[in-house]
Amino acid sequence: MTESLELQEVSVYYGERLALESVSLSVSHGAQVAVIGPNGAGKSTLFKAMVGLIPVRSGTMLIHGRPPAESHGPVAYVPQREEVDWRFPVTVLDVVSMGRYGRGSWLKKLSGEDREVIERSLGRLGIAALARRPIGELSGGQQQRVFLARALAQEPHVLLLDEPFTGVDIATREATFELLSDLRSRSVTVFVSTHDLDLASERFDQVVLLNRRLISVGSPEQVFTEKHLQEAFGGQMVVVNGKVIVVDQCCGGHGPVGAVDSCRCDACDEPGPAEDEKRS
Ligand code: ADP
Ligand code: MG
Repeated sequence: MTESLELQEVSVYYGERLALESVSLSVSHGAQVAVIGPNGAGKSTLFKAMVGLIPVRSGTMLIHGRPPAESHGPVAYVPQREEVDWRFPVTVLDVVSMGRYGRGSWLKKLSGEDREVIERSLGRLGIAALARRPIGELSGGQQQRVFLARALAQEPHVLLLDEPFTGVDIATREATFELLSDLRSRSVTVFVSTHDLDLASERFDQVVLLNRRLISVGSPEQVFTEKHLQEAFGGQMVVVNGKVIVVDQCCGGHGPVGAVDSCRCDACDEPGPAEDEKRS
């Protein structure tokens, strides 16, 4: 049986900038996988490459045995909230309906079945009453549900959720978990990027630990060793009472004050906590 996802020495660049370096891994059908790594590790890049938004420069990536560009329909992607232009003048219904249009077929007329799936997806995420509202008017949690509903309407075999738990309310968080258990029973393969190590070990079968290159992949027990975490997070990792804490919000976030004196985030030019404190 083909794997759900298979990467062999995959490298991805933005211009000259290497974002993923020779990553090899495989994930079987129906697994729920947490993708962990510091800011700038390449988590979003991995997802974008999987939906064909960024080309793979070298190596091979196969989703259900096919290259990403050919597997668009069955792979649904919910981008990180910051990457969406919420001012774009579309309604909730417009966004969820997009889940029924294949690539390049915007002019397709929606069938009765399409409409049913759209309605079911809106209902499933509890946003049917918001259908006519512009997405820009919604709360962060509601916006997240809109994108989850769009993904659901795609009836995907593979679902990619980029930091779905960041900046959402508890109800949306719970709704997301419910959706994940639903998808588990339907053997949809799920990838979720998160900064939450506890969540990753409690709720996921497999963990991919990244920091531009693959540091480790396997069960949470195999992956979350102090050595691996140190390799991934370096100065962002703090051990308190034997428990590893990752201070992920280097950009203006302060984490456990005093425990962290430098920001290793190379995703931005913002000063880390220590410098930030000096300035204020
Ligand atoms: P993560 O999601 O793990 O925080 P990303 O995949 O967003 O990391 O980014 C990986 C690296 O690629 C970072 O160094 C980031 O600055 C860089 N990068 C991301 N998007 C772009 C882009 N559009 N152009 C140039 N560099 C980018
Ligand atoms: Mg990201």
